[in-house]
Amino acid sequence: MSDYLVRATAADAAIRAFAVSTLDTVEEARARHNLSPVASAALGRLLTAGVMMGGMLKNEDDLVTLRIDGDGPIGSIVVTADSRGEVKGFAANPSVMLPPSPVGKLDVGGSIGNGVLTVIKDMGLKEPYSGQVVLQTGEIAEDLTYYFATSEQVPSSVGLGVLMNRQDATVKRAGGFIIQLMPFASDEVLSKLEENIKSLKPVTTMLDSGLTPEEVLGEVLKGFDIEITDTMPVGFKCNCSKDRLTKALISLGRKEIKSIIDDGKPITMNCHFCNTDYTFEIDELKDIYKKIK
Ligand SMILES: [Zn+2]
Repeated sequence: MSDYLVRATAADAAIRAFAVSTLDTVEEARARHNLSPVASAALGRLLTAGVMMGGMLKNEDDLVTLRIDGDGPIGSIVVTADSRGEVKGFAANPSVMLPPSPVGKLDVGGSIGNGVLTVIKDMGLKEPYSGQVVLQTGEIAEDLTYYFATSEQVPSSVGLGVLMNRQDATVKRAGGFIIQLMPFASDEVLSKLEENIKSLKPVTTMLDSGLTPEEVLGEVLKGFDIEITDTMPVGFKCNCSKDRLTKALISLGRKEIKSIIDDGKPITMNCHFCNTDYTFEIDELKDIYKKIK
């Protein structure tokens, strides 16, 4: 089954809910970037959150970028998602290796360390919206919960999970949910939801037992009338192209391109988001040079 996002409401729209399966998305990121297990978990969780937050955007061309800058060995992690279910991302140090956390889990918090989470929403306005919070645990779900509460003033519950296969270090399961409480929610709805979340199994446990996004929502929102609004396929997708990188080369200016041509060697440019290399031969560089005024 390919990855998909479910959007839902509950309690007469006092709750809005998102759940997603991201196994193929995170496995593609792992393979493209040669991610270590802990880097797969870290980037995978952020990709899972990103694709759900993309699903919250209103307009087709809106973009959301999640950026974590910590002092841990993984360095920065960046994810960009759109409203159509497409998400891409990278970790600065994809090969980071760490011993397991004290409870035997992949040490995502340790790989990220202390730092900040920045959320940038580009909605076609002059200035993109940007909110920043200090990392709470570096485990990402808690950090996003804190972000929603403080930056957007929306009480939320975020669950993110990535499980790896021990034998070959590929991704076994990935997915997550975001539950948000609207301002008009009654105390009764709030306390029932709190009760549910307190007794909820860990996301990885739910994913490991093969629960679909709909079934995950069924667990988180047990006892509520859930209305599924829609479902949408999601996946890892980068919009880079040779054309885009040609534009980047043009922006370097005549002098720079001339000096590359004079060096006499083709150059390779890499897209950080999807780790694709684009090589420009001397003849191509000469064509680009001609195009610059
Ligand atoms: Zn790319």
